Amino acid sequence: MNRIFSGIQPTGHLHLGNYLGAIRNWVKLQEEFECLFCVVDMHAITVWQEPAELVTNTRRIAAAMIAAGIDPERNVVFHQSGVPGHAQLAWIFNCVARLGWLNRMTQFKEKAGKNRENASVGLYAYPNLMAADILLYKATHVPVGEDQKQHLELARDIAQKFNNDYGVHCFPIVEPLIFGPATRVMSLRDGKAKMSKSDPSDYSRINLTDDAEAIRLKIRKARTDPEPLPEAPDGLEARPEAANLIGIYAALADITVEDVCARFAGQPFSRFKDELAQVAVATLAPMTAEMRRLEADPAHIDAILNRGAERAATLAEPVLREVHQIVGFLPPQ
Ligand code: ATP
Ligand code: MG
Repeated sequence: MNRIFSGIQPTGHLHLGNYLGAIRNWVKLQEEFECLFCVVDMHAITVWQEPAELVTNTRRIAAAMIAAGIDPERNVVFHQSGVPGHAQLAWIFNCVARLGWLNRMTQFKEKAGKNRENASVGLYAYPNLMAADILLYKATHVPVGEDQKQHLELARDIAQKFNNDYGVHCFPIVEPLIFGPATRVMSLRDGKAKMSKSDPSDYSRINLTDDAEAIRLKIRKARTDPEPLPEAPDGLEARPEAANLIGIYAALADITVEDVCARFAGQPFSRFKDELAQVAVATLAPMTAEMRRLEADPAHIDAILNRGAERAATLAEPVLREVHQIVGFLPPQ
């Protein structure tokens, strides 16, 4: 049976990139795969989180997943810190992964910024924890946005080195699942930076909690160039902001980028932006309303996550036992 692990951090505001690049695809995956969907709160604290906000954001992510159509009965929906096996396996992987491998990770460089000496050790070791998240359940497939491809490669290297070092076939070599248009949604302010929860500018992203007015305003203010929409996508590489808005429209309307160009060829972006705002609001408004309804009952969300964590721990238990035995940790009595 193919098994999927997927995670999302409870940091800041969930945005359109998280929805189009991750959550929306997960909804489709539940038809074909056994799925674990995890709110990765332990990843979140690799950079400072206000404790009260972390709790609220953890519940918000769960609410967003459920509102988007993920069924917590059919899938395992849980919070990472609810299953101690993630931290346990991550430690073992800290001892498998090489410093040289982590030194190559571009996300660490981006997130640590100039003041690298002051970044947390957790931020540096983040990819090892991500490998543990996946391999704790021997997941075979991981749906990842473009931004996580490098980390997934590292998870494969860790699995391979563990298997080689100990001469076992313990961990599978996980495969990425990458989806169609708008797998990488870019910032509305800069077509070369990805839309991100941690971007300080709220105008850079459409939050899943934004109301219709905010969505319209942000799209109207989104950066573009003075040219109208092209007849075909060729040449869009040189126009990152235009390409981004066209890609977002295609993903929301579930049509190809070619179709969007054909439909709006020659029109100014001001007109196109109105249409884009309309599809964005039509897609997001029902989900936002359902998220609000779910968030009004935090105890219910906590019960779903805790039940999910119990189910996840049951799946992790035999894998951890096997790993401990392979590594040479004393067997339990
Ligand atoms: P942070 O800035 O805190 O890293 P993030 O916006 O990158 O936040 P994550 O929690 O790291 O969000 O990622 C959750 C999921 O959303 C991952 O599967 C990731 O690939 C996907 N994702 C994040 N940003 C984008 C984006 N701009 N376009 C498409 N997918 C994205
Ligand atoms: Mg990220």
